[in-house]
Amino acid sequence: MVTVRDTLLSVQERFRAGGIDTPELDARLLLQAATGLRHEDIIMEAARGVTGEALARLEEMAARRLRREPVSRILGARAFWNADFKVTPETLDPRPDSETLIEGVLAEVAKEKPLAILDLGTGTGCLLLSLLQELPQATGLGIDISAGAVETARLNASALNLSGRSDFMEKDWKKLTPLSLYDVVIGNPPYIALPEIAELAPEVRKYDPIAALSGGPDGLDCYREIASLLPRILAKNGLVALEIGAAQAADVKGILGKAGLSVLHTLADLAGHDRCIIARWTRV
Ligand code: GLN
Repeated sequence: MVTVRDTLLSVQERFRAGGIDTPELDARLLLQAATGLRHEDIIMEAARGVTGEALARLEEMAARRLRREPVSRILGARAFWNADFKVTPETLDPRPDSETLIEGVLAEVAKEKPLAILDLGTGTGCLLLSLLQELPQATGLGIDISAGAVETARLNASALNLSGRSDFMEKDWKKLTPLSLYDVVIGNPPYIALPEIAELAPEVRKYDPIAALSGGPDGLDCYREIASLLPRILAKNGLVALEIGAAQAADVKGILGKAGLSVLHTLADLAGHDRCIIARWTRV
């Protein structure tokens, strides 16, 4: 009989040898998914046997991970802020870094106001839906050029009981003709410069949709497009929160400033990298 403990250790060892960044965590998450055991069961019942079916499931998942597919894509879900989000090949895999944007927005808005939020390039919907969870009177629209992403975001909204306060549309933001103004505009646009795409980790380069990564020759194309859109879609004193790449703060501040926005500040992620720019539309 193969025990839970031996199975865990052997997958960890293969992940470590295969150059996987977080071998312990990844092995445990896949073992939990393959066996249906909870985290505490893995510790408390380490001497229990693993069935042949569970081992076969684990083997298939471990082989995918060794080909550098992220655990979230193997499981089809990723924890972000306070919920689990369905992840599909058409969506960017939500990153813990992006929670910086949620904190940045929550620090600027009044919790009980009926804010209208627009999410540009919504993907799984994780940014918009996390904000709607925190802001019980707010409503939101998420747009994305990918039909698959829009469908996934809708499923995530429904799983979180947020369909009544959220709407998702397949739409290119360059062609957006808003019917109303928004109090808050958020987005995690593609911001990787073309020459840097080849250097991304295989988990990102091979599995995140290229359309969610590539920000053109210098990585800033989407910020230019969004900056030209913002004056038409923001309510007076409307808030903008955009995720940025670690070295893009000065450039994006410049782009937003030129479009007439007042840049308030940038926020760093847990690793200390600039990750989010907060600005307001203070003109009439
Ligand atoms: N944060 C992602 C990465 O560094 C990029 C996501 C994006 O382009 N918005 O891999």
